[in-house]
Amino acid sequence: MLSWRLSFADPTKSSAPSRDSVGGPAWLPKGLAPPSCTLCGTRLTLVFQADLPPGHPLAGRHLVVLTCPKHDDIWGGIYEDGIVAHPPGRLPQGYWKGGGHYHLATYAGELEAAPSDGRLEATPLDLGPDPEPRRQAFRLGGHAPHVDKLGYTCSCGAKMVQVGEVPNDFKFPLAPGQAALPGTFSTKNDKLFLGNYVLLMACSASCDPMAMVAYHA
Ligand SMILES: [Zn+2]
Ligand SMILES: [Zn+2]
Repeated sequence: MLSWRLSFADPTKSSAPSRDSVGGPAWLPKGLAPPSCTLCGTRLTLVFQADLPPGHPLAGRHLVVLTCPKHDDIWGGIYEDGIVAHPPGRLPQGYWKGGGHYHLATYAGELEAAPSDGRLEATPLDLGPDPEPRRQAFRLGGHAPHVDKLGYTCSCGAKMVQVGEVPNDFKFPLAPGQAALPGTFSTKNDKLFLGNYVLLMACSASCDPMAMVAYHA
């Protein structure tokens, strides 16, 4: 499985909204309303996004990871206390619809940049080689060593493929003037799903753009 390291690029080198970014405008299908939290109604914040590059099984699709700026844990549906509580094997029908305070998807086709909520510092991402693919890293693709043991398949029967990975305590810088979440140690950053080491898995057949799981490794 090919993998790519993601690193923060110099924001001054590009003026157009980047499709590979932390924060900034999310690239979403034309006409899709920017997603909101079903619990509190707050617009979801784009945490990061990237085009899956040639060589990845879902090449050409656009990965987006949005979460509620007020609810940064993961619960509901197949999740319990921040982990996938569903037993190994086939995931249940509509498993991606269980929780409403995040939006994980890989979109194909024509996309447009939805206005940003301004919470995170908009920073373009560079894709580079991944010299240590078996170590925790901020990456696209990848194949974490224990993923095969999970044995998850999508409800449609296709296997799940890793589309990205966020290491433990990874920091997503807030834009100037934005307040950190209450109870967090960092005043300058958000973390994805409480800062857990997260593997992002998607249906290899893309039966639905949102057929994804955030597995807390
Ligand atoms: Zn919320
Ligand atoms: Zn599927």
